[in-house]
Amino acid sequence: MDLIGLSAHCCSVCGKRLLDAAYRDWDGNYACEEHKNCLCYCCGRTYGKNAIEIEPHVWLCESCSKTIPDKNTVKSVISYIRTFYKQNRLEVKSHVFLKGVSVSQMEQQYAHNVRGYVIYPPEPAGFTMVVLRHLSKTALALVLSHEMLHIWQYENQIFPPQPITEGFCNLGAYLILQSIGTKVATGQIFLLTNSADPIYGDGFRKMKNMYERQGLQAVIAYMQSFKR
Ligand SMILES: [Zn+2]
Ligand SMILES: [Zn+2]
Ligand SMILES: [Zn+2]
Repeated sequence: MDLIGLSAHCCSVCGKRLLDAAYRDWDGNYACEEHKNCLCYCCGRTYGKNAIEIEPHVWLCESCSKTIPDKNTVKSVISYIRTFYKQNRLEVKSHVFLKGVSVSQMEQQYAHNVRGYVIYPPEPAGFTMVVLRHLSKTALALVLSHEMLHIWQYENQIFPPQPITEGFCNLGAYLILQSIGTKVATGQIFLLTNSADPIYGDGFRKMKNMYERQGLQAVIAYMQSFKR
């Protein structure tokens, strides 16, 4: 082992030189033991010195903080997702409202440890996607493309077991991220694929496997088999 090469790595958070065990994120940034969980809540990278604490204990890396979309960009992200799904026979027909909330609001009012949440009809008058404020453009695309497929399942009265529901939503997000194709989108795919979660991670790997062996239309047909 090249000691000089090794000692060249520093923790991206505190700058401490790393001589032995170090943690490395999907983008190759290093962190010391103390800062291994200092991850950007949008992209999952170890955040560096110019990170922003957008809410208490919620950090954004510098690059994500610069790509938080304005209203028009949000609209174009939604229309991109809708068009993509429509072209793949996953059209969402309903009007969908969007509501941005803080991390603490999400925790208190909707659900624990999620970035998006769907409110189903009848309240208020259709579907509402509740989504965290301050998501980068790519993180927003991931969250909305996931939530949109929950709406598609509901519209079609498809109610599979939870790992299949969530795995299918993540498969949609995966396809959208793949079509976006940027480095950050690829990083998000890495995180989806390597998630240890028994529902989101295992569910996604099952659905992705089916997709790779049989194609998307076969996955959709499988989903239809859970129609009520
Ligand atoms: Zn450190
Ligand atoms: Zn980030
Ligand atoms: Zn979900």
